[in-house]
Amino acid sequence: MQFSEFRLHPLLLKTIDHLGFTQATEIQQFAIPSALQGADLIASSKTGSGKTLAYLLPLLNRLFYNRALSKRDPRGVILAPTRELANQVYAQVRLFTANTQYSAAKLIGGDNFNDQAKKLRSNPKIIVATPGRLADHLSHRHVFLNGLEMLVFDEADRMLDLGFIEQLTAIHKQADHRKRQTLMFSATMDNLDVVKMGQQFLNQPKRIAVGEAN
Ligand code: ADP
Ligand code: MG
Repeated sequence: MQFSEFRLHPLLLKTIDHLGFTQATEIQQFAIPSALQGADLIASSKTGSGKTLAYLLPLLNRLFYNRALSKRDPRGVILAPTRELANQVYAQVRLFTANTQYSAAKLIGGDNFNDQAKKLRSNPKIIVATPGRLADHLSHRHVFLNGLEMLVFDEADRMLDLGFIEQLTAIHKQADHRKRQTLMFSATMDNLDVVKMGQQFLNQPKRIAVGEAN
């Protein structure tokens, strides 16, 4: 299946074209249409299979086409387990939002907390964060998630392995309203805690497992 067959915003298709991608990977083929329809997803496929675009394209498409729920609050939040992964995701977000009105902020542990707080005062529309650092900013009331439209858990299995359940729960609770769409990705569904978290945080999620027998 080609990217051009998805109902994606022309700006997104243009960037995909610039990257030289034409065929969607398997996880993208399954995840993108369901996510575009507004479904919550719990999805797994192996590392390197293209999970980033599987959630980023539906997230940006929703932001580009829908009216914001709030002028102040971020509209999309992407959580990743490590600084390194958050950096990679943030670079993709920047690539797809260059020359648009959609500002993004990166909130990762190790970077200056006050600089991040200052950045949050400019009301970025998209946040890429590690769970601990976003939870810190939430508890300092530097940011509010009442207007959040899309929450993504990237590498949910690793975030749980790293012991982030408390922070993930705090973030989920701050943005717990029926207009939120939630996408959860992991390398496998072997970890029952991921499935359990999916049942707790997601609304009638669709399950997509690529390359697994289940
Ligand atoms: P995962 O998160 O599943 O480990 P990534 O999203 O990091 O995978 O993607 C792995 C690599 O594949 C990246 O370099 C990405 O740019 C590239 N990629 C993603 N989707 C496609 C595609 N449809 N066609 C070609 N390359 C792709
Ligand atoms: Mg990934």
